[in-house]
Amino acid sequence: LGPHKVILVGDSGVGKSSFMLRLCDDAFNEKMNPSFGLDFKTKVISVNGQEENIQIWDTAGQERFRSITQSYFRKVDGIILVYDITHEESFLNLQNWVTCIQESGQLSAPMTIIGNKLDLEHLRCVSREMATELANFYEADFVEVSAKDGRNINQLGYDLVSKLVER
Ligand code: GDP
Ligand code: MG
Repeated sequence: LGPHKVILVGDSGVGKSSFMLRLCDDAFNEKMNPSFGLDFKTKVISVNGQEENIQIWDTAGQERFRSITQSYFRKVDGIILVYDITHEESFLNLQNWVTCIQESGQLSAPMTIIGNKLDLEHLRCVSREMATELANFYEADFVEVSAKDGRNINQLGYDLVSKLVER
């Protein structure tokens, strides 16, 4: 079996590239350029004693709706929707991202909604309740993380792969 292809979608600046760097390399780059995309990175995660390869795909500055090439969505096993808990618009835009996924015909892939920048709790604008509600509506998992300090990232990776393996 090949790697599990998981794609990141969400507005520019929410921390998609940073999340990928944290999950795959356990690193953070304070000077990450929002227009910078990392293409894809792989990570091996062990679930039930089995090594699973997960391939995370990042958008390279194509974050305007409908500007992402359709090949990005091809044969995806999982979708991660990212917003920034300190930026309400990035949360409201998740609905537009779901529309994009719908148009690509991939809405059946399991979705995880990530609220990033949990280290900036004092600047929070999006409540956990609001996000939980949206996640329930889309039958998606929901977790808040910080790509900066790494909070909840490994658990998320493990849960995601467990879910992909089950399917
Ligand atoms: P992308 O455009 O979605 O890929 O977002 P980036 O990964 O380029 O991050 C955008 C900005 O947010 C950069 O300045 C990052 O350093 C910052 N950033 C990303 N994740 C976090 C986080 O968890 N906490 C904080 N405080 N800043 C973050
Ligand atoms: Mg980026």
